[in-house]
Amino acid sequence: MSTEPLIFEMGAPGRRAATLLEMDVPTRPLEDLVPAAALRQEDAPLPEVSEIEIVRHFTHLAERNFGVDSGFYPLGSCTMKYNPKLNEDMAALPGFARIHPLQDDATVQGAIELIYTLEQMLCEIAGMARVTVQPSAGAHGEITGLMIIKAYHESRGEGHRNVVLIPDSAHGTNPASATLADYEIREIRTDGRGGVDVEHLRELLDDKVAALMMTNPNTLGVFDENIVEIARLVHDAGGQLYYDGANANAILGLVRPGDTGFDVVHFNLHKTCSTPHGGGGPGAGPIGVAPHLVPFLPGPLPAKDADGTFHWRDAGPQSIGRVRANNGNFLVLVRAYTYIRFNGPDGLRRVSESAVLNANYLMHALKDLFTLPFDRTCMHEFVLSANQQKARGVTAMDIAKRLLDFGMYAPTVYFPLIVPEAVMIEPTETETRETLDRFIAVMRQIDQESRENPELVTHAPHTTPVGRLDQTLAARKPRLRWSPGDAPRTSEKSVPVGVSR
Ligand SMILES: *Cc1c(COP(=O)(O)O)cnc(C)c1O
Repeated sequence: MSTEPLIFEMGAPGRRAATLLEMDVPTRPLEDLVPAAALRQEDAPLPEVSEIEIVRHFTHLAERNFGVDSGFYPLGSCTMKYNPKLNEDMAALPGFARIHPLQDDATVQGAIELIYTLEQMLCEIAGMARVTVQPSAGAHGEITGLMIIKAYHESRGEGHRNVVLIPDSAHGTNPASATLADYEIREIRTDGRGGVDVEHLRELLDDKVAALMMTNPNTLGVFDENIVEIARLVHDAGGQLYYDGANANAILGLVRPGDTGFDVVHFNLHKTCSTPHGGGGPGAGPIGVAPHLVPFLPGPLPAKDADGTFHWRDAGPQSIGRVRANNGNFLVLVRAYTYIRFNGPDGLRRVSESAVLNANYLMHALKDLFTLPFDRTCMHEFVLSANQQKARGVTAMDIAKRLLDFGMYAPTVYFPLIVPEAVMIEPTETETRETLDRFIAVMRQIDQESRENPELVTHAPHTTPVGRLDQTLAARKPRLRWSPGDAPRTSEKSVPVGVSR
């Protein structure tokens, strides 16, 4: 691993990366152009470096980055699949990349048509009546959907419904969004097969319940076979059914949430429809709704006139209003449109079939050494428990760190919360058999190490630029950039959080 100095440690006073020629035209003094109070009195304390130093600095940083393009990334629930470069080419077309959201509709017909068509394709995939692409992330879709559900109940004189039911296996954004939308949360237990405990659901249902938020397949990677019964119970109690569709990678062309009773669905286009994500975006979290919720959607929505022209139509009087400036993260939508068009209906179905096959392949090859809490066919991901390794002193976190030594990103660990020492693995459909086999071999080797040489695992990683970070400090007080005046740091400590190789 390179121990090249970073840019703050390089350079010498007076060194420059650029050579500017002497001006051969008359110039005005700076004082004439910039107000005196805004002028710097001293030079900024920046590194003074040559061109090759700056090039090496950024090249080394890029080499330390880890992404789907550099290695296997089985981060459960995040769907870190390969993002086809074709999507990038389409998003870079000047007709998409260089337009302005406030341009006159007549000059951006193609862009509105693309959004309009994407909405229709997402309606078809989810079994919903209408979609909005305004929300910028899954969590943003969640709060939008909950606001729609709230407006719906209020319109029927049922504004007293102030409870959202959420399974204990749920992604953390679900309770967070429900809290933000001013709901109280009741947690539903998981049953012995990894699904919603229907008896517990019955106990929790009453006339205070506004909605049940569910992921199906859930974060344990299992499909809830009781979903039709669950939907009936919730609807009979006057509640609505919200589908967290972040894990749609397992169901494309196979199951439509609308057909199983859901009233609102959000997509994570950055996961399922292959926009590079991680590090905070950009993303897109469109939501689809059943017919009775359409009047509450945010607006404006794209519309097509009889003569084939497109325009933005303002929302009706019952709309919850805008949830975002402009019309969504447009270039993410271009990537999703390209992805769906490129695969077509049959291709999308194969995406999900392969994602499910790959996950089951890994699960069966590992379940003799790692505990499988819910031993049944999994969907796009599965959750192991490292409790046997823990008994030998090697935790799920140690295993995650050790994987980095083999050039593989770690699975999600310690989530879902209901599985002790959880290791949540999502291989996605885009990995080769060889990569899956290598991952199996590495996981089996790490188990072997936990028996013979646990210190090797508990002190991992050994090959990355940084060893173990103080995770709490890294999350609470991340130092993501250098500022003038920072004490010089060694290259060991100045690598950004989470970077591994
Ligand atoms: C990723 C994810 C979310 C949140 O999506 P963001 O785009 O990160 O806001 C919600 N639920 C599940 C199950 C997820 O995997």
